[in-house]
Amino acid sequence: MKTVSHLINNKNTPLSTDSRTAPIYNPATGQISKQVELACKATVEEAIAAAEEAYPAWRNTPPQKRAAIMFKFKELLQQNADRIAEAVGEEHGKISHDAMGELQRGIECVEYACYAPELLKGEHTKNVGPSIDCWSEFQALGVVTGITPFNFPAMVPLWMYPMAIVCGNTFVLKPSERNPTSALMVAELLHEAGLPEGVLNVVNGDKEAVDVLLQDTRVKAVSFVGSTPIAEYIYTTANTNGKRCQALGGAKNHAIIMPDADMDNAVNQLLGAAFGSSGERCMALSVAVAVGDQAADALIEKMSKAMQALKVGAYTNSDNDFGPVITREHQQKVVGLIDSAEQDGAKVVVDGRKPSVTGYEDGFFVGATLIDNVTTEMVSYQQEIFGPVLQVVRVDSMKEAMQMINDHEYGNGTCIFTRDGEAARYFSDNIQVGMVGINVPLPVPVAYHSFGGWKRSLFGDLHAYGPDSVRFFTKRKTITQRWPSSGVRENADFSFPA
Ligand code: NAD
Repeated sequence: MKTVSHLINNKNTPLSTDSRTAPIYNPATGQISKQVELACKATVEEAIAAAEEAYPAWRNTPPQKRAAIMFKFKELLQQNADRIAEAVGEEHGKISHDAMGELQRGIECVEYACYAPELLKGEHTKNVGPSIDCWSEFQALGVVTGITPFNFPAMVPLWMYPMAIVCGNTFVLKPSERNPTSALMVAELLHEAGLPEGVLNVVNGDKEAVDVLLQDTRVKAVSFVGSTPIAEYIYTTANTNGKRCQALGGAKNHAIIMPDADMDNAVNQLLGAAFGSSGERCMALSVAVAVGDQAADALIEKMSKAMQALKVGAYTNSDNDFGPVITREHQQKVVGLIDSAEQDGAKVVVDGRKPSVTGYEDGFFVGATLIDNVTTEMVSYQQEIFGPVLQVVRVDSMKEAMQMINDHEYGNGTCIFTRDGEAARYFSDNIQVGMVGINVPLPVPVAYHSFGGWKRSLFGDLHAYGPDSVRFFTKRKTITQRWPSSGVRENADFSFPA
């Protein structure tokens, strides 16, 4: 069986006989397809040492030369897109059109990183005092790290290291151990594009590897994306150890369906946003809050009809709408939360608990599920389900809908479907959520804006990718300069210069 290892100094590390391993599944067949070596302390330290050694020369490489490698990288990603999407499909289960979409979003972050020479230009003021000039510049931090989740195995690493590297840092990536192959393939392409050895290193592993990255004083910053309990742990530990950290966590994204919404459009939009990628997206719309029973009844009727056409199946058939969930345990968790909603008094209108996928009977599939009459006291409402499940909550007013969203512990994304501009404006102004859509179900910011939630969906200040990532991966230095001309010397001044 193939064992996936690490990429340190642009070399695949030899397999060690005594290291721990974990299975990698093909979620569509339910079978183990490979195994991954889980890095021990020594391996992670080797990767950090490689990054540290590469740092001085890389930091002093002119920004346009660093950007030139990103231009080439973008080209190689486009040329190899099919191959990468196939690897995502095999280990994640995503259908090829969805995997290609994920990769495209990652490529756009590489495109943005190509602007680095422009983005890194500092600020300069001449003559802040007599013959005194002042400027701020944005310096690299040193060795930085990224720890990424399973659900966007190719894209989320690209949120992080293209910008980190182009800003002059060197990087250690720790991808999800559940599906590491696409992240490794992408990292290899960056080396093919001309990246010097040691600037980007990839270690596979679990908590043991992450803890080394969090403890090591050579690592200056940690960018994390994953579930909220782990995000909180990463943020707290990194901060305690004096590191800069941004830790993006889980979500429960609500869509408000106003009585004046174009219901056919809302249903179409919700279908993709709730069930696409099996609901395993941090921006998945998992709760529809219908304002008034008339809107709720129309939503349930049209949605349950539209759901009959949805196809769940293996990634190999691009006619399928979505694939399996990531593991058997996760499949059981999703089904368990549907059971609990039913036991708590909600009505399962479309039941995906026992889907039949011919030829893939052992796959980790859950069919599209629609649940009506969900209330805020239910555990299935409070938790992130991360499966193809849309819950409908009925409320009497927009105020009540907004209060519910503001009271939820997560604040990643949200959306309103309405024809009323005033209502939409009030909503976007007052909702306590980081990314807001108005008749746009998945308001994922484009690469030249930044991505991040509020409340317990993000620990830290700066969001991921876009302009915030330039600030996250650099530190400001402000320099004040005077060159006294010969013969002109000032006396000591004991008051603060005004
Ligand atoms: P996860 O938290 O289980 O794992 C994420 C990373 O943390 C992995 O690399 C994993 O190896 C590591 N990790 C896991 N347990 C750890 C521990 N105890 N100590 C240290 N490191 C540990 O998340 P996941 O299941 O891979 O991904 C799904 C979650 O990620 C969902 O909650 C989803 O909402 C969230 N997510 C959030 C965003 C966002 O931008 N906010 C984007 C994608 C996914």
